[in-house]
Amino acid sequence: MLKVHNTLSRKKEEFEPLEGNHVRMYVCGPTVYDYPHIGNARSFAVFDTIRRFLEYTGYRVTYVTNFTDVDDKMIDRANRDGVAVSDLAAKFIAEYRQIADELNLKPATVNPRATEHIDDIVEMVGLILKNGKGYAVDGDVYFDVSELKEYGALSGINPEDLSAGARVDVDEKKQDPRDFALWKAEKPGEPSWESPWSKGRPGWHAECSVMGKHYLGIPFDIHGGGQDLIFPHHENEIAQSTAAYGEQPVKYWLHNGFLTINKDKMSKSEGNFATAREVLDNYDHQAVRFYLISGHYRQPLDYNDDALRQATQSVERIRNAVDSVRGRISILEKAGSREAEADEKLSEAIAKLSEGFVREMSDDFNTPGGIAEVFAFIRELNTLTPEVGGAAVLREALATLGVLLEILGLEMSEKKVGEGDSSSSEVLKGSIDLLLELREDARKAKNFATADKIRDRLAEIGVLVEDTKDGPTWKLK
Ligand code: AMP
Ligand code: ZN
Repeated sequence: MLKVHNTLSRKKEEFEPLEGNHVRMYVCGPTVYDYPHIGNARSFAVFDTIRRFLEYTGYRVTYVTNFTDVDDKMIDRANRDGVAVSDLAAKFIAEYRQIADELNLKPATVNPRATEHIDDIVEMVGLILKNGKGYAVDGDVYFDVSELKEYGALSGINPEDLSAGARVDVDEKKQDPRDFALWKAEKPGEPSWESPWSKGRPGWHAECSVMGKHYLGIPFDIHGGGQDLIFPHHENEIAQSTAAYGEQPVKYWLHNGFLTINKDKMSKSEGNFATAREVLDNYDHQAVRFYLISGHYRQPLDYNDDALRQATQSVERIRNAVDSVRGRISILEKAGSREAEADEKLSEAIAKLSEGFVREMSDDFNTPGGIAEVFAFIRELNTLTPEVGGAAVLREALATLGVLLEILGLEMSEKKVGEGDSSSSEVLKGSIDLLLELREDARKAKNFATADKIRDRLAEIGVLVEDTKDGPTWKLK
């Protein structure tokens, strides 16, 4: 049974999709005004892992993640750089796609852009006004928070405590400082669209409400994003959807914790950030992905070189184990199978791995728990591999490991699991044949010490040499 922590109830709840086997999921995507930092990348990797686990569990997932391609940050940056907002968006959407590829994010079912949904936004704002939950002033439209008793339910923020200048914009046109903009009349140098109230542009919160509803219908199952989005962004999404459509838009709200530097939230505005680009340029891509999901998604994750070095070592340990298994498979393919106690033990370890991994991930996507299960298995695999007598169980080990690593977004090799590696097995066979030839040469030269040493050392690594009347042959122990 899968349990997920719902920010709305502040509890872990049993996960049950609203509609049979289908999970509808919306994750707030990047505002494409600059290079994403590694903190943004954490949010992307976390929700990709959650999606992958849901799919592994057997759900069909419709995964929507947007590009915020018009808002205050976009306009400020475009004006500063002297470029059109649309060109700025195109540049950083391309950059995001490159990063997404390197982090092995599964392509979303759809990546809508806010500017493609202006008509839908105008329609929603119209409904809010019609339902008496908003007001228009000089071409701007605001949401009237005082009309909504449940405002604050998601964030736990008491609306009475919100004062102007605290965490809400000050704007003398607002009836109440807590009210927020649904539509903003055009200012010089800003992109704008026609609407019944003014030529203007949507407020940021309106964009996500509308795109979620458009692609998923409401209510839908999961809405994700970083913890910084709980208030005001997601609180306001709930307010808008309930005011316009009379429904809570989302069943489960999931929020990732911050990636921090020296315990402070990584953020562009504070200047304490590393871009995803520079981190991916400096470290193995799989190690970066591993690092991003190595902590529990709701906990903070600190960014430092040490953490990335450790992630690199962890990925290396997995690769080494996989390589040894492949080597052993090719030896067994040449030499034939035999009965061995280790096979049974490995079979049990494989079952334990699957069971343990799924148990951990079913507890609110506990990736550190799942990863601990993987490494417990790797330790056993390293011990058992040289003792295993049949290739089948080793192939099963690789297949199981491959499937579970894929949930974490890790792919250990381009080779298909269990394919075997004919070139390395040829090299291995050739090397043993060569050693036996050298042993024969040593014997002919009466250098029996060297001949015996070769035989003994081969025995130590599991190769049994037998001298027959037709010359020496070898097989695996
Ligand atoms: P933005 O492009 O600023 O809209 O952010 C894209 C996503 O990254 C959002 O879900 C944010 O909540 C998330 N995010 C921003 N900063 C951090 C951080 N330091 N750690 C984790 N997630 C973050
Ligand atoms: Zn959003």
